[in-house]
Amino acid sequence: MDKFTARQMRINAEAKLSRQFARLDEIALYNQQKVLDAFKNQSVQLRHMNGTTGYGYDDIGRDTLCKLYADVFRCESAIVSPNIVSGTHALTLMLFGVLRPGDKLLAVSGKPYDTLTDVISADNVGSLKDFGIDYDYIELKESDKIPQFDFDAIKSALKSQKIKAIFAARSRGYSLRQAICVEQIEELIKFVKEISPDTLVLIDNCYGEFVQKIEPSDVGADLMAGSLIKNIGGGIAPTGGYIAGNRHLVKQVAYRLTAPSIGMEEGSYAYGYLPYYQGLFAAPSVVRNALKGSLLFAQTYSDLGYETLPCGDMKPYDIVTSIKFGNATKLIDFCEAIQEISPIDSNVKPVPWDMPGYQDQVIMAAGAFVQGSSIELSADSPIKEPYIAYVQGGLTYEHAVLALEHTLGKLNG
Ligand SMILES: *Cc1c(COP(=O)(O)O)cnc(C)c1O
Repeated sequence: MDKFTARQMRINAEAKLSRQFARLDEIALYNQQKVLDAFKNQSVQLRHMNGTTGYGYDDIGRDTLCKLYADVFRCESAIVSPNIVSGTHALTLMLFGVLRPGDKLLAVSGKPYDTLTDVISADNVGSLKDFGIDYDYIELKESDKIPQFDFDAIKSALKSQKIKAIFAARSRGYSLRQAICVEQIEELIKFVKEISPDTLVLIDNCYGEFVQKIEPSDVGADLMAGSLIKNIGGGIAPTGGYIAGNRHLVKQVAYRLTAPSIGMEEGSYAYGYLPYYQGLFAAPSVVRNALKGSLLFAQTYSDLGYETLPCGDMKPYDIVTSIKFGNATKLIDFCEAIQEISPIDSNVKPVPWDMPGYQDQVIMAAGAFVQGSSIELSADSPIKEPYIAYVQGGLTYEHAVLALEHTLGKLNG
């Protein structure tokens, strides 16, 4: 496609998105206020940015950051730490923190994210299974790509056995379906607690933060976990993860993060916490930019006849757009185009490889300032039928616009 046509397609798509964009602006404003209120409430000061060394006793920057997250999430307690290496690590801490031998875990949004498979059920690696924790999952039901919890199946599971924790993910993972909204999580929590008040509800919040005005913590999730190199790090946090929710449970997770004799009393970070505070502050706006970019990709490729999600007037519930290419060449071309128009490593050609934790080969276009950051514009996909590209992020909307037009330019020559 020539440059002029690509630009015209993008402008047409934007015109169709004006109401969606206005809605996203309103959500960003609401969340910015929420974050600002939390900063004021915690009296965040410059000295909180300072780094610490060694044990990190009385690390006020770390403690305040944890309180700040708890405030933003309107929950009792939170752990935020650069020592959590990824989202998978945060989710693993959440699970190991609260589950004990003999307990049962039930995932209700289908199988958990690919990298959790080994965490839950691999042999001889120190998985939940190795520690005698039983596990099962229930697939989502779907109507018109809108996922629904299978409440009948959940009910019979809860009535027939003791279930310590229910697990659900907001984001779509690698599947061509819409993400789950917080209102659905609320319905799930009410449903579960009515049948079995002691069963915990644990949420994989990756890609969900600031997409709506409310979070799972607002509707009674016992714990939720996520990555700082996705939404809530605002593209500025260099690494890390969080777990937030009920005070007593967060404490259990802290014992797992460090040691039962230590909890959150220790943990230093010599570089200082500036990017964590600044990233959180920027996150509502950055997430809005990413969402706008995401909708723009979806609308434009949908106009071209590709199956995309979201599509039409669908509200986005995570920052991801799925585009079904139907063949490997187109998919790889698309990812190459995204890499070419990245600020970092634009000279690099992404190739499919065997990534740790994934079953199929995965191609990843990620020309990001922070390695692997997917709040920055990125595209990735397992190389398998029906060859769906998952596009997410974009620190600025303008980058998404240029990237979209570049991918269109590569299409059909
Ligand atoms: C990214 C992601 C994870 C894992 O996070 P990593 O930081 O890649 O380890 C888990 N669940 C969902 C839904 C995700 O999007």
